[in-house]
Amino acid sequence: MTASNAQWLLRRRPQGMVTLDDFEYKESPMPSADLAAGDVLVKNLYLSFDPAMRGWMDDAPSYLPPVAIGEPMRASAVGQVIASENTAMPVGSLVQGMFGWQQYAVSKSSDLFPAMALPEGTPPTMPLSIFGGTSLTAYFGLLDVGQLQAGDTVLVSGAAGATGSAAAQMAKLKNCTVIGIAGGEEKCQWLRDECKLDAVIDYKSENIEQRIGEICRQLDCEGINVFYDNVGGDTLEAGIEHMAKKGRIVLCGQISAYNDEQPQPGPKNLMKLVVNSIRMEGFVMIDFMDRIDEAMNDIVTWVLEGKIAYREDIQEGFDNIPATFFRLFAGQNTGKQLLKIADPE
Ligand code: NAP
Repeated sequence: MTASNAQWLLRRRPQGMVTLDDFEYKESPMPSADLAAGDVLVKNLYLSFDPAMRGWMDDAPSYLPPVAIGEPMRASAVGQVIASENTAMPVGSLVQGMFGWQQYAVSKSSDLFPAMALPEGTPPTMPLSIFGGTSLTAYFGLLDVGQLQAGDTVLVSGAAGATGSAAAQMAKLKNCTVIGIAGGEEKCQWLRDECKLDAVIDYKSENIEQRIGEICRQLDCEGINVFYDNVGGDTLEAGIEHMAKKGRIVLCGQISAYNDEQPQPGPKNLMKLVVNSIRMEGFVMIDFMDRIDEAMNDIVTWVLEGKIAYREDIQEGFDNIPATFFRLFAGQNTGKQLLKIADPE
Protein backbone atom coordinates (compact mmCIF):
# COMPACT_ATOMS: atom_id res chain seq x y z
CA MET A 1 0.00 0.00 0.00
CA THR A 2 1.33 3.50 -0.84
CA ALA A 3 2.26 5.73 2.10
CA SER A 4 0.54 8.83 0.79
CA ASN A 5 -2.84 9.85 -0.55
CA ALA A 6 -2.72 12.40 -3.40
CA GLN A 7 -5.58 14.89 -3.17
CA TRP A 8 -6.92 17.99 -4.91
CA LEU A 9 -8.26 20.30 -2.19
CA LEU A 10 -10.56 23.29 -2.52
CA ARG A 11 -8.13 26.16 -1.80
CA ARG A 12 -10.56 29.09 -1.99
CA ARG A 13 -14.04 30.02 -3.21
CA PRO A 14 -13.96 30.84 -6.94
CA GLN A 15 -14.86 34.31 -8.10
CA GLY A 16 -16.46 33.90 -11.52
CA MET A 17 -14.97 31.24 -13.77
CA VAL A 18 -13.37 28.43 -11.77
CA THR A 19 -9.57 28.26 -12.27
CA LEU A 20 -6.66 26.05 -11.31
CA ASP A 21 -5.76 28.51 -8.51
CA ASP A 22 -9.01 27.57 -6.75
CA PHE A 23 -7.52 24.13 -6.05
CA GLU A 24 -4.39 22.84 -4.34
CA TYR A 25 -2.58 19.57 -4.92
CA LYS A 26 -1.49 17.86 -1.71
CA GLU A 27 0.03 14.56 -0.66
CA SER A 28 -1.68 13.62 2.59
CA PRO A 29 -1.02 10.56 4.74
CA MET A 30 -2.71 7.38 3.61
CA PRO A 31 -6.02 6.90 5.52
CA SER A 32 -5.77 4.27 8.25
CA ALA A 33 -7.04 0.80 7.42
CA ASP A 34 -8.15 0.53 11.05
CA LEU A 35 -11.85 0.91 10.25
CA ALA A 36 -15.02 1.16 12.32
CA ALA A 37 -17.80 -1.40 11.82
CA GLY A 38 -19.58 -0.82 8.49
CA ASP A 39 -16.79 1.32 6.97
CA VAL A 40 -14.67 0.59 3.91
CA LEU A 41 -11.35 1.94 2.60
CA VAL A 42 -11.62 2.58 -1.13
CA LYS A 43 -9.08 3.09 -3.89
CA ASN A 44 -10.60 5.45 -6.46
CA LEU A 45 -10.70 4.18 -10.07
CA TYR A 46 -12.97 6.61 -11.94
CA LEU A 47 -14.19 10.09 -11.04
CA SER A 48 -17.38 11.71 -12.29
CA PHE A 49 -17.46 15.41 -13.20
CA ASP A 50 -20.77 17.20 -12.79
CA PRO A 51 -21.62 20.87 -13.37
CA ALA A 52 -23.30 20.98 -9.96
CA MET A 53 -19.85 20.66 -8.36
CA ARG A 54 -19.28 24.30 -9.27
CA GLY A 55 -22.20 25.26 -7.00
CA TRP A 56 -20.80 23.14 -4.16
CA MET A 57 -17.69 25.37 -4.21
CA ASP A 58 -19.73 28.48 -3.30
CA ASP A 59 -20.58 29.41 0.27
CA ALA A 60 -24.30 29.54 -0.43
CA PRO A 61 -27.27 27.59 0.90
CA SER A 62 -28.10 24.68 -1.40
CA TYR A 63 -29.35 21.10 -1.34
CA LEU A 64 -25.89 19.98 -0.09
CA PRO A 65 -23.53 21.87 2.24
CA PRO A 66 -20.65 23.71 0.54
CA VAL A 67 -17.30 21.91 0.30
CA ALA A 68 -15.14 23.32 3.11
CA ILE A 69 -11.93 25.15 2.26
CA GLY A 70 -9.00 22.74 2.62
CA GLU A 71 -11.13 19.65 2.01
CA PRO A 72 -10.77 17.34 -1.00
CA MET A 73 -13.24 18.45 -3.66
CA ARG A 74 -16.47 16.45 -3.36
CA ALA A 75 -17.08 14.16 -6.34
CA SER A 76 -18.90 11.00 -7.16
CA ALA A 77 -16.64 8.06 -8.00
CA VAL A 78 -16.28 4.34 -8.50
CA GLY A 79 -13.55 2.60 -6.55
CA GLN A 80 -12.32 -0.74 -5.30
CA VAL A 81 -12.50 -1.80 -1.66
CA ILE A 82 -9.00 -2.42 -0.28
CA ALA A 83 -9.93 -2.81 3.42
CA SER A 84 -13.37 -3.59 4.78
CA GLU A 85 -15.38 -3.85 7.94
CA ASN A 86 -18.56 -4.34 5.90
CA THR A 87 -19.61 -7.84 4.81
CA ALA A 88 -21.70 -6.45 1.93
CA MET A 89 -18.54 -4.87 0.43
CA PRO A 90 -15.61 -7.27 0.80
CA VAL A 91 -12.02 -6.47 -0.23
CA GLY A 92 -11.78 -6.44 -4.04
CA SER A 93 -15.39 -5.44 -4.67
CA LEU A 94 -16.28 -2.39 -6.77
CA VAL A 95 -18.30 0.33 -5.06
CA GLN A 96 -19.61 3.80 -5.82
CA GLY A 97 -19.95 6.81 -3.58
CA MET A 98 -18.87 10.40 -2.95
CA PHE A 99 -15.18 9.54 -2.61
CA GLY A 100 -13.88 12.92 -3.81
CA TRP A 101 -10.77 14.12 -5.65
CA GLN A 102 -8.29 11.81 -3.95
CA GLN A 103 -6.65 8.45 -4.52
CA TYR A 104 -8.03 6.81 -1.38
CA ALA A 105 -11.09 7.49 0.77
CA VAL A 106 -12.66 6.02 3.86
CA SER A 107 -16.38 5.73 3.33
CA LYS A 108 -18.28 5.59 6.60
CA SER A 109 -21.62 3.83 6.84
CA SER A 110 -22.85 7.02 8.58
CA ASP A 111 -21.92 9.29 5.62
CA LEU A 112 -24.68 11.15 3.77
CA PHE A 113 -23.77 9.04 0.71
CA PRO A 114 -22.09 5.85 2.03
CA ALA A 115 -20.40 3.46 -0.41
CA MET A 116 -22.77 1.21 -2.38
CA ALA A 117 -21.72 -2.08 -3.98
CA LEU A 118 -21.93 -2.25 -7.79
CA PRO A 119 -24.06 -5.09 -9.14
CA GLU A 120 -21.83 -8.05 -10.15
CA GLY A 121 -20.31 -7.64 -13.62
CA THR A 122 -21.18 -3.93 -14.05
CA PRO A 123 -18.50 -2.12 -16.12
CA PRO A 124 -17.00 0.40 -13.67
CA THR A 125 -17.81 3.51 -15.72
CA MET A 126 -21.51 2.79 -16.27
CA PRO A 127 -22.77 3.62 -12.76
CA LEU A 128 -21.30 7.09 -13.31
CA SER A 129 -22.59 7.50 -16.88
CA ILE A 130 -25.72 6.00 -18.39
CA PHE A 131 -26.69 4.08 -15.20
CA GLY A 132 -25.88 7.10 -13.03
CA GLY A 133 -27.42 10.24 -11.61
CA THR A 134 -27.67 12.10 -14.91
CA SER A 135 -30.01 9.46 -16.40
CA LEU A 136 -32.09 9.39 -13.21
CA THR A 137 -32.30 13.17 -13.38
CA ALA A 138 -33.52 13.02 -16.98
CA TYR A 139 -36.10 10.37 -16.08
CA PHE A 140 -37.69 12.14 -13.11
CA GLY A 141 -37.37 15.60 -14.63
CA LEU A 142 -39.06 14.63 -17.85
CA LEU A 143 -41.70 12.19 -16.67
CA ASP A 144 -42.59 13.57 -13.23
CA VAL A 145 -41.80 17.27 -13.30
CA GLY A 146 -42.48 17.63 -17.04
CA GLN A 147 -45.56 15.38 -16.97
CA LEU A 148 -44.64 14.21 -20.46
CA GLN A 149 -47.50 12.98 -22.67
CA ALA A 150 -47.20 10.95 -25.89
CA GLY A 151 -47.40 13.31 -28.86
CA ASP A 152 -45.83 16.26 -27.04
CA THR A 153 -43.31 18.47 -28.78
CA VAL A 154 -40.26 18.55 -26.51
CA LEU A 155 -37.35 20.99 -26.51
CA VAL A 156 -34.12 19.98 -24.72
CA SER A 157 -31.19 22.33 -24.16
CA GLY A 158 -27.73 20.95 -23.39
CA ALA A 159 -29.06 18.10 -25.52
CA ALA A 160 -25.74 16.43 -26.34
CA GLY A 161 -24.68 16.21 -22.69
CA ALA A 162 -25.18 13.32 -20.30
CA THR A 163 -28.49 14.55 -18.86
CA GLY A 164 -29.81 16.21 -22.01
CA SER A 165 -29.16 13.28 -24.35
CA ALA A 166 -30.86 10.89 -21.93
CA ALA A 167 -33.87 13.20 -21.58
CA ALA A 168 -34.15 13.73 -25.35
CA GLN A 169 -34.08 10.00 -26.09
CA MET A 170 -36.51 9.15 -23.29
CA ALA A 171 -38.93 11.63 -24.86
CA LYS A 172 -38.48 9.87 -28.24
CA LEU A 173 -39.19 6.53 -26.53
CA LYS A 174 -42.45 8.03 -25.25
CA ASN A 175 -43.49 8.93 -28.81
CA CYS A 176 -42.77 12.62 -28.65
CA THR A 177 -41.26 14.93 -31.26
CA VAL A 178 -37.92 16.16 -29.96
CA ILE A 179 -35.87 19.25 -30.78
CA GLY A 180 -32.36 19.43 -29.28
CA ILE A 181 -30.09 22.44 -28.74
CA ALA A 182 -26.33 21.83 -28.58
CA GLY A 183 -23.02 23.53 -29.32
CA GLY A 184 -21.23 22.65 -32.54
CA GLU A 185 -21.77 20.48 -35.61
CA GLU A 186 -20.19 17.31 -34.19
CA LYS A 187 -22.63 17.21 -31.26
CA CYS A 188 -25.59 18.12 -33.50
CA GLN A 189 -24.65 15.35 -35.95
CA TRP A 190 -24.54 12.80 -33.09
CA LEU A 191 -27.98 13.93 -31.92
CA ARG A 192 -29.40 13.52 -35.43
CA ASP A 193 -27.67 10.25 -36.36
CA GLU A 194 -27.42 8.29 -33.12
CA CYS A 195 -30.10 9.79 -30.87
CA LYS A 196 -32.59 10.15 -33.75
CA LEU A 197 -33.85 13.60 -32.75
CA ASP A 198 -36.37 15.21 -35.08
CA ALA A 199 -34.57 18.57 -35.27
CA VAL A 200 -31.38 20.04 -33.88
CA ILE A 201 -30.25 23.63 -33.28
CA ASP A 202 -26.54 24.51 -33.13
CA TYR A 203 -26.62 27.47 -30.76
CA LYS A 204 -23.06 28.39 -31.67
CA SER A 205 -24.00 29.16 -35.28
CA GLU A 206 -27.78 29.65 -35.23
CA ASN A 207 -30.24 32.01 -33.55
CA ILE A 208 -32.03 29.76 -31.04
CA GLU A 209 -35.22 31.77 -30.77
CA GLN A 210 -35.64 32.15 -34.51
CA ARG A 211 -34.87 28.47 -35.20
CA ILE A 212 -37.35 27.15 -32.60
CA GLY A 213 -40.05 29.20 -34.34
CA GLU A 214 -39.08 27.91 -37.80
CA ILE A 215 -38.94 24.30 -36.64
CA CYS A 216 -42.34 24.55 -34.93
CA ARG A 217 -43.82 25.88 -38.19
CA GLN A 218 -42.17 23.05 -40.19
CA LEU A 219 -43.51 20.49 -37.69
CA ASP A 220 -46.91 22.19 -37.83
CA CYS A 221 -47.17 22.22 -34.02
CA GLU A 222 -48.59 25.03 -31.87
CA GLY A 223 -45.36 25.28 -29.89
CA ILE A 224 -43.32 23.47 -27.27
CA ASN A 225 -45.27 21.36 -24.75
CA VAL A 226 -42.27 20.42 -22.58
CA PHE A 227 -39.03 22.42 -22.40
CA TYR A 228 -36.31 20.51 -20.53
CA ASP A 229 -33.79 23.27 -19.78
CA ASN A 230 -30.23 22.55 -18.68
CA VAL A 231 -28.79 25.93 -19.68
CA GLY A 232 -30.83 28.94 -18.43
CA GLY A 233 -30.12 32.54 -19.52
CA ASP A 234 -30.88 33.45 -23.14
CA THR A 235 -31.67 29.82 -23.96
CA LEU A 236 -34.43 29.75 -21.35
CA GLU A 237 -35.80 33.03 -22.63
CA ALA A 238 -35.82 31.73 -26.22
CA GLY A 239 -37.70 28.59 -25.18
CA ILE A 240 -40.29 30.52 -23.16
CA GLU A 241 -41.08 32.53 -26.30
CA HIS A 242 -42.33 29.39 -28.09
CA MET A 243 -44.19 27.49 -25.38
CA ALA A 244 -47.59 26.07 -26.26
CA LYS A 245 -50.62 26.64 -24.02
CA LYS A 246 -50.45 24.59 -20.78
CA GLY A 247 -46.76 23.85 -21.48
CA ARG A 248 -44.32 22.71 -18.80
CA ILE A 249 -40.81 24.10 -18.34
CA VAL A 250 -38.51 21.77 -16.40
CA LEU A 251 -35.67 23.72 -14.77
CA CYS A 252 -33.00 21.03 -14.52
CA GLY A 253 -29.96 23.31 -14.48
CA GLN A 254 -28.55 26.67 -15.60
CA ILE A 255 -25.02 25.85 -16.67
CA SER A 256 -24.66 29.13 -18.56
CA ALA A 257 -24.74 30.96 -15.21
CA TYR A 258 -22.67 28.73 -12.89
CA ASN A 259 -19.48 30.76 -13.31
CA ASP A 260 -21.11 34.20 -13.41
CA GLU A 261 -19.81 36.74 -10.90
CA GLN A 262 -23.16 38.53 -10.81
CA PRO A 263 -26.56 36.84 -11.13
CA GLN A 264 -28.01 37.02 -14.65
CA PRO A 265 -31.16 39.11 -15.13
CA GLY A 266 -34.29 36.95 -15.24
CA PRO A 267 -36.06 36.15 -18.52
CA LYS A 268 -37.80 39.24 -19.91
CA ASN A 269 -40.81 37.31 -21.17
CA LEU A 270 -42.30 35.69 -18.06
CA MET A 271 -45.68 37.20 -18.96
CA LYS A 272 -45.86 34.40 -21.56
CA LEU A 273 -46.23 31.99 -18.63
CA VAL A 274 -49.27 33.92 -17.46
CA VAL A 275 -51.08 34.23 -20.77
CA ASN A 276 -50.38 30.65 -21.84
CA SER A 277 -50.99 28.98 -18.42
CA ILE A 278 -47.48 27.54 -18.34
CA ARG A 279 -45.90 25.85 -15.34
CA MET A 280 -42.14 26.30 -14.72
CA GLU A 281 -40.70 24.06 -12.01
CA GLY A 282 -37.23 23.26 -10.75
CA PHE A 283 -36.15 20.05 -9.05
CA VAL A 284 -33.12 18.12 -7.85
CA MET A 285 -32.72 14.42 -8.50
CA ILE A 286 -32.29 13.66 -4.81
CA ASP A 287 -35.98 14.64 -4.36
CA PHE A 288 -36.70 11.24 -5.93
CA MET A 289 -34.22 9.01 -4.03
CA ASP A 290 -37.01 6.69 -2.85
CA ARG A 291 -37.92 5.83 -6.46
CA ILE A 292 -34.47 5.02 -7.87
CA ASP A 293 -35.20 1.29 -8.33
CA GLU A 294 -38.28 2.01 -10.42
CA ALA A 295 -36.39 4.40 -12.71
CA MET A 296 -33.31 2.20 -12.95
CA ASN A 297 -35.41 -0.79 -14.10
CA ASP A 298 -36.66 1.24 -17.06
CA ILE A 299 -33.26 2.78 -17.84
CA VAL A 300 -31.41 -0.56 -17.75
CA THR A 301 -34.05 -2.13 -20.00
CA TRP A 302 -33.85 0.70 -22.55
CA VAL A 303 -30.05 0.69 -22.62
CA LEU A 304 -29.77 -3.10 -22.93
CA GLU A 305 -32.33 -3.03 -25.75
CA GLY A 306 -30.14 -0.45 -27.54
CA LYS A 307 -32.82 2.25 -27.33
CA ILE A 308 -30.63 4.89 -25.68
CA ALA A 309 -27.32 5.94 -27.22
CA TYR A 310 -24.72 7.36 -24.85
CA ARG A 311 -21.12 8.50 -24.85
CA GLU A 312 -18.47 8.49 -22.15
CA ASP A 313 -15.64 11.03 -22.38
CA ILE A 314 -12.89 9.41 -20.32
CA GLN A 315 -9.85 11.55 -19.55
CA GLU A 316 -6.87 10.06 -17.72
CA GLY A 317 -4.47 10.92 -14.93
CA PHE A 318 -4.72 12.33 -11.42
CA ASP A 319 -2.89 15.52 -12.45
CA ASN A 320 -5.63 16.26 -14.98
CA ILE A 321 -8.49 16.41 -12.46
CA PRO A 322 -9.05 20.21 -12.43
CA ALA A 323 -8.54 20.48 -16.21
CA THR A 324 -11.13 17.76 -16.74
CA PHE A 325 -13.63 19.68 -14.61
CA PHE A 326 -13.09 22.83 -16.72
CA ARG A 327 -14.04 20.88 -19.89
CA LEU A 328 -17.71 20.94 -18.79
CA PHE A 329 -17.88 24.73 -18.93
CA ALA A 330 -16.08 24.97 -22.27
CA GLY A 331 -18.37 22.37 -23.89
CA GLN A 332 -15.32 20.17 -24.57
CA ASN A 333 -16.86 17.01 -23.16
CA THR A 334 -18.48 14.68 -25.66
CA GLY A 335 -20.82 12.71 -23.40
CA LYS A 336 -20.57 11.99 -19.70
CA GLN A 337 -17.32 13.48 -18.36
CA LEU A 338 -15.23 10.93 -16.46
CA LEU A 339 -11.56 10.54 -15.54
CA LYS A 340 -9.67 7.33 -14.96
CA ILE A 341 -7.25 7.33 -12.03
CA ALA A 342 -6.32 3.68 -11.68
CA ASP A 343 -7.08 0.13 -12.80
CA PRO A 344 -8.69 -2.31 -10.37
CA GLU A 345 -6.19 -4.61 -8.61
P1 NAP B 1 -23.16 17.73 -19.65
O1 NAP B 1 -24.42 18.27 -20.29
O2 NAP B 1 -22.72 16.36 -19.99
O3 NAP B 1 -21.95 18.72 -19.89
C1 NAP B 1 -22.09 20.09 -19.79
C2 NAP B 1 -22.47 20.70 -21.17
O4 NAP B 1 -23.10 21.95 -20.94
C3 NAP B 1 -21.27 21.05 -22.02
O5 NAP B 1 -20.78 19.94 -22.76
C4 NAP B 1 -21.82 22.13 -22.93
O6 NAP B 1 -22.42 21.54 -24.07
C5 NAP B 1 -22.94 22.76 -22.09
N1 NAP B 1 -22.56 24.12 -21.70
C6 NAP B 1 -21.51 24.50 -20.95
N2 NAP B 1 -21.49 25.85 -20.82
C7 NAP B 1 -22.55 26.32 -21.52
C8 NAP B 1 -23.07 27.61 -21.78
N3 NAP B 1 -22.49 28.73 -21.26
N4 NAP B 1 -24.18 27.73 -22.56
C9 NAP B 1 -24.77 26.63 -23.08
N5 NAP B 1 -24.33 25.37 -22.87
C10 NAP B 1 -23.24 25.22 -22.10
O7 NAP B 1 -23.39 17.83 -18.07
P2 NAP B 1 -24.54 17.16 -17.20
O8 NAP B 1 -23.91 16.57 -16.01
O9 NAP B 1 -25.41 16.31 -18.05
O10 NAP B 1 -25.39 18.43 -16.70
C11 NAP B 1 -26.24 19.14 -17.59
C12 NAP B 1 -27.15 20.05 -16.80
O11 NAP B 1 -27.99 19.28 -15.94
C13 NAP B 1 -26.42 21.05 -15.88
O12 NAP B 1 -27.12 22.27 -15.88
C14 NAP B 1 -26.53 20.38 -14.54
O13 NAP B 1 -26.39 21.29 -13.47
C15 NAP B 1 -27.91 19.78 -14.63
N6 NAP B 1 -28.17 18.69 -13.69
C16 NAP B 1 -29.18 18.86 -12.81
C17 NAP B 1 -29.46 17.87 -11.91
C18 NAP B 1 -30.62 18.04 -10.98
O14 NAP B 1 -30.79 17.23 -10.06
N7 NAP B 1 -31.44 19.07 -11.19
C19 NAP B 1 -28.70 16.68 -11.88
C20 NAP B 1 -27.67 16.53 -12.82
C21 NAP B 1 -27.40 17.55 -13.74
P3 NAP B 1 -22.45 22.35 -25.49
O15 NAP B 1 -21.20 21.96 -26.19
O16 NAP B 1 -23.70 21.87 -26.13
O17 NAP B 1 -22.43 23.81 -25.14
